[in-house]
Amino acid sequence: MTFAHRLTYEIWQRHGLWGRLGWLALAVVAAQSAAQAALNLTQLGVPPALLAGALSAVACQRLVRQICAVCRQPAEPPAAQTLALHGVGPEQAARLQFFQGEGCAACNKVGYRGRRAIFEVLTVSPEVKDAIEAGLSAEELEAVAVGAGMVTLRERCLALVAEGATTFDELVRLKL
Ligand SMILES: [Zn+2]
Repeated sequence: MTFAHRLTYEIWQRHGLWGRLGWLALAVVAAQSAAQAALNLTQLGVPPALLAGALSAVACQRLVRQICAVCRQPAEPPAAQTLALHGVGPEQAARLQFFQGEGCAACNKVGYRGRRAIFEVLTVSPEVKDAIEAGLSAEELEAVAVGAGMVTLRERCLALVAEGATTFDELVRLKL
C-alpha cells in the first residue's frame, strides 16, 4: 500500500463518503487490472460489503506503443507457447495477422511511433456487487465482470494487434 492510497482512503473516511448517497468520490490506484484495483480497496481496510455498495465503476488504462506507419511490415507470428500464455489459442492465432516496425528515420529506428490508450471499465453490476461481497479473487471477479459484458485490456490490445496498430510484443510487455 502506498502513502497515496492510504491518504485517499483516509480522506474518504473523514468526509464520510462511503455509501453516502449523492456523493461521487474518485480515487486513483495502481493495479494490473480493474478487478484488482477494486479489490485493492478492500486491502486498505474497506469492508467488502461497504465497497460493493459504494463503488460505481473502475476504469483501468494502459498506453500501448503504436507501430510506425512508415516502416510497418508483416511479422512472423509469435511462438504458439507465447500466444497460449496470453490466452490466444491456435484457432484465434490463425485468424490474426502480425505486424512490426522495421525501424526507419521517421521513428528513429525504434519501429514504434506514438502511443494509444486502451481502457477496461468494470461496472459494478448486481453480479459484480455480489462477487465483491462474496470476497472472490481478482481473477474470479474479472470472470464475473466479463460475463456481464466487460471488455478486458487484453481484448482491447489484441484488437489493436489484429488491425496492425501495435505488436504482440506490446501485449507481452504490458503483461496482459
Ligand atoms: Zn519507422
